[in-house]
Amino acid sequence: MDLLVVGSGFFGLTIAERAASAGKKVVVIDRRSHIGGNAYSEAEPETGIEVHRYGAHLFHTSNETVWEYVNRFTKFTGYQHKVYSNFKGEVYPLPINLGTINQFFRAAYGPDEARALIAQQAEEFDTKQAKNLEEKGISLIGRPLYEAFIRDYTAKQWQTPTTELPAEVISRLPVRYTYDNRYFNDTHEGLPVDGYTAWLENMADHPNIEVRLDTDFFDESQPLNKKALVGTVPIVYTGPVDRYFDYAEGELSWRTLDFEQEVLPTGDFQGTSVMNYAGADVPYTRIHEFRHFHPERDYPADKTVVMREYSRFATRDDEPYYPVNTPEDRDRLLKYRELSDREDRVLFGGRLGTYQYLDMHMAIGSALSMFNNKLSELL
Ligand code: UDP
Repeated sequence: MDLLVVGSGFFGLTIAERAASAGKKVVVIDRRSHIGGNAYSEAEPETGIEVHRYGAHLFHTSNETVWEYVNRFTKFTGYQHKVYSNFKGEVYPLPINLGTINQFFRAAYGPDEARALIAQQAEEFDTKQAKNLEEKGISLIGRPLYEAFIRDYTAKQWQTPTTELPAEVISRLPVRYTYDNRYFNDTHEGLPVDGYTAWLENMADHPNIEVRLDTDFFDESQPLNKKALVGTVPIVYTGPVDRYFDYAEGELSWRTLDFEQEVLPTGDFQGTSVMNYAGADVPYTRIHEFRHFHPERDYPADKTVVMREYSRFATRDDEPYYPVNTPEDRDRLLKYRELSDREDRVLFGGRLGTYQYLDMHMAIGSALSMFNNKLSELL
């Protein structure tokens, strides 16, 4: 073995594929019994509808290198993501756009009028000086829209006061003074034609790659463990960085998700793939209806699969999904980075390994640069 990759999500598989194509023997281990990390998907057995077991994954990128790379392993559909939000029993389009503004204020403003209104409602804070999510949110869309669509939803999602969350979280949500309600601004967007798992399997399908599932890097009763291997072979570790160091600098806070999945006896439950629930009175954050991700597929006309998503703080035994990134977390992360730099030929990557809110295309892009800039010289 020339390289051990710990974790078979997009970051780990990109590293493995690049190294394998450069002629190196790679072993990928994953403690789960399937590849792909949280991007894994499977057909729901009763309906055949593809379900993203760890929450909806929507692929989009403006990075041409990443787009060219991912197209080697799958074709993409023309799916364009749109999200709606149920606020007090009324449905509005997201991200906040002219349609949302006019519906909310019961008006027919043109772009300039809407801009002037929002500028006035957003006066309290300056976007550039915004110190946290709340200030940034109000500075972008004004207090009334912020309180309706962002404040309680964000509190449900992060269970952390919006004044303690970093402003960047909300940079993911554009505000538009047109009726364009595409969720993502990127040049390329789509879903893998044969599903996520087929895409992930194609990445791992190389004679130089061996994947071992149900294999925990920290379990010393199996040979591919941390104690036995660090210092003997280059390692790319994509698990939680605090776990790697046995929480020596304290735990980083993560958010985990709980899902309630149901097959319903109707061909269409909500008419769209994702409906957010803005209010604090509804315990879940959103409902996914998976058939709408693939209108081109031949799914049953009388059944549908829905999944309610709940969000909460992760304990050590939960699957970590999102870094919460409070100021204390950022201090701890700096200490973990110092420790990481001292490890012998171990590189840390991916959402969990770097404690960063990376989308799929970002994880793949960062794996491609790690391979080119840091890893190839170790191999
Ligand atoms: N957000 C919000 N209201 C919404 C949707 C999103 O306030 O209806 C904010 C919230 O702070 C959230 C962030 O935007 O954490 C990113 O949301 P998105 O749904 O894009 O995140 P995902 O979980 O899909 O990565």
